[in-house]
Amino acid sequence: MSARMPQDLLLAASGIGVLDATQMRTVFDGMTVGLLVLDGAARIIDVNPAAEALLGLPRMEILGRGAADASWQAVDIEGRLLPATHHPALQTLRSGQPVQGTELGITLIGGARRWLMVDSAPLPLSGDGQGVVLSLLDTGPRRALEDRLAAKGRRLRAVLEGTGTATWSWDLQTGVVQLDPRGMEMLGLDGYDAPITTMDAWRERVHPDDEAVCAERLREHFEGCSETFDAEYRMRHRDGGWRWMRDRGRVCSRDSQGRPLTLLGTHDDITPLKEAQAARAGRERLEQELRRATHADPLTGLPNRAALMATLRQEVTSLRAPQLEREHGDGQCDEASSGLSLMFMDLDRFKFINEAQGHDFGDEVLRAVAQRLQSLARQASTERQSPWTVARLGGDEFVVMVPGTTDAGAAQRQAQALVQALTEPYSVRQQEVHAQASIGVTLWHAGVDSGDVMLRDADTAMYEAKRQGRGRYVMFDDTMRQRLTRAVVVENELRHAVGRNQLEAVYQPIIDLETGAMSSVEALLRWNHPELGAVSPNEFIPVAEESGHITALGEWILRTACHQWTAWQDEDASRAPRTMSVNLSREQVALGPRVLALVREALDEAGMPAHALQLEITEREVMKHPEDARQLLLDLSAMGVKLAMDDFGTGTSSLGCLRDYPFDTIKIDKSFVTNVCRDPQVLAVAHATVNVIENLGMVSVAEGIEDPAEVAALQAMGCRYGQGYLFARPVKADELLGALG
Ligand code: C2E
Ligand code: MG
Ligand code: MG
Repeated sequence: MSARMPQDLLLAASGIGVLDATQMRTVFDGMTVGLLVLDGAARIIDVNPAAEALLGLPRMEILGRGAADASWQAVDIEGRLLPATHHPALQTLRSGQPVQGTELGITLIGGARRWLMVDSAPLPLSGDGQGVVLSLLDTGPRRALEDRLAAKGRRLRAVLEGTGTATWSWDLQTGVVQLDPRGMEMLGLDGYDAPITTMDAWRERVHPDDEAVCAERLREHFEGCSETFDAEYRMRHRDGGWRWMRDRGRVCSRDSQGRPLTLLGTHDDITPLKEAQAARAGRERLEQELRRATHADPLTGLPNRAALMATLRQEVTSLRAPQLEREHGDGQCDEASSGLSLMFMDLDRFKFINEAQGHDFGDEVLRAVAQRLQSLARQASTERQSPWTVARLGGDEFVVMVPGTTDAGAAQRQAQALVQALTEPYSVRQQEVHAQASIGVTLWHAGVDSGDVMLRDADTAMYEAKRQGRGRYVMFDDTMRQRLTRAVVVENELRHAVGRNQLEAVYQPIIDLETGAMSSVEALLRWNHPELGAVSPNEFIPVAEESGHITALGEWILRTACHQWTAWQDEDASRAPRTMSVNLSREQVALGPRVLALVREALDEAGMPAHALQLEITEREVMKHPEDARQLLLDLSAMGVKLAMDDFGTGTSSLGCLRDYPFDTIKIDKSFVTNVCRDPQVLAVAHATVNVIENLGMVSVAEGIEDPAEVAALQAMGCRYGQGYLFARPVKADELLGALG
């Protein structure tokens, strides 16, 4: 150290005698370090000019003073008065050892304080005397610098404290972290908690989802990609919750290879800011959702009625523009004609799916339908380049709109594609679900002046499709509206049919063709409405099925027929029909177990044996949901109830599949029977059919026999039973026993 050098030099010089006294004096006086030579009593016996300047006194006033002269009011670095005995000169005199690096403050004349770094070393004096040499170095400039830095630090701290910012440092070599008390406070930690002193302890508090982000920001900064390390992440608070922190730091020292050694930074709790941001984002999301909700169906995400109508009205307006131009303008408009087709779809069995399987299940079916329509629309849109719009109006009603459709043929092809796509079963919760639709189609033409009219017409055509047997499409025509009005009245009035006693059961005998005797009867429903008159089951049964009224109607006829069977038994067991046939509608089949319970109840109430009841299910229904139907039939059969397949020959079932169902009877449809005598081919098929039926151990019943020739043909082919106007029309209960004479 330069402070000690002159002493060493002096000692060395005097010791080896290189310099003479004059040279020594020159060196002594020329030193920039203040030097004082003290005798054994610690009195100053020599002083160089540098020391004079430092002590602020002329040489003459210094000489003879004690080193620990009280007038200098020496203080230690803490500002405490330095006891004379602690003075380095006196320590050296006492111990004979050098004392280095004592920092002292002395008071100059005038009161100013001067800070000196004092080294003392023993100095042999001429003769035997032992003295001391003191070197004095002004530490004022360094102190001033330190004070400035400290003040700056204090100011910085004050600023940071004012903003609530905490500071930290991280020693990458040791992993030691220093987080100031403010930082600890942010995490709810106080003096009683273990401070965070390592990077591991810090990391433990970081939210697992944010670790990767922090690591990435650090890496970027370490590799020089970012000027500062800047990261937002969550830390665990003492209360178990999470607080958002923002850290900004910077590498402040690196090793010789440029590897970072320490990182200093600030630490802010930005939780309120984040919460405000989240609240704002939440509000925006909500607004967005509200906007979407007003135009999107929440269940399927498809455009809703409002959205569809907006687009549809716009389309119709632009289609009408050239026409209006022609009517009111100069007739110079663009003739590029373009069209529009609209397909209104209503799922056929949806009410029953909903009722039998629950609304959640129903919702899933609707979503599956929406998806299928959308994928068909996407496919068609790319193939033909006119985008299809798929919308859900509510319930089980969907609409597909195809701009650019100009001819009926194209509209029919679109509708056919929809029918086909919807016929495929859906897989919902591992169950196969059938949800085909009835579709009404309208094509824009010059007479249509609004989107609302188009939708209404498509809706009307859809009703017509239902009426014609469902699972099909129907193009709208003007006569439909009238018919529809009646369908709406029928549906409305039907709900009161049971309650207002408008229902009636009629019974049609089934005859043993060999003996001509009545073997059983079929119960058939009649609805006598005060204004509508006698409504045919062909008309009201489909409406009842669609509206859900069939459950009540089906229950009524079953109970009524069972009671009637018992009544006839009681009246005249020898003439009474052995069995009672009751038709089960397709929707009742869909209800499954509920039908089983109902049948059980009706039999018990009437005191009728199960084997006396025969339930008829149409071939079409069996083939539409073969598995549902099979299970129900097996359960009914297990109960002892007899089963008949109704209207055989109108569907698509093969004879082979009869074996898979527990049918006792096959009823051959009237259309078949009528043609037996007219068409030799039908005769041949009917013959073979009856053979198979009989061979399978089942009974065949021919329906709708009106002509004696038919009886002969049927008998010839081995058909055992028949039913038809030839023998008896359906009659009221009290007329039955007399009907056959
Ligand atoms: P279905 O079960 O095939 O009943 C036979 C239908 O053919 C009855 O018509 C009957 O009156 C008619 N019929 C019988 N013999 C002849 C004939 O020689 N010539 C002609 N042209 N028709 C004949 P209905 O009573 O009008 O019933 C029609 C259909 O309505 C029934 O066909 C059945 O599918 C349904 N239906 C009737 N009553 C009920 C019922 O209580 N429940 C259910 N679910 N459906 C019923
Ligand atoms: Mg029947
Ligand atoms: Mg029939």
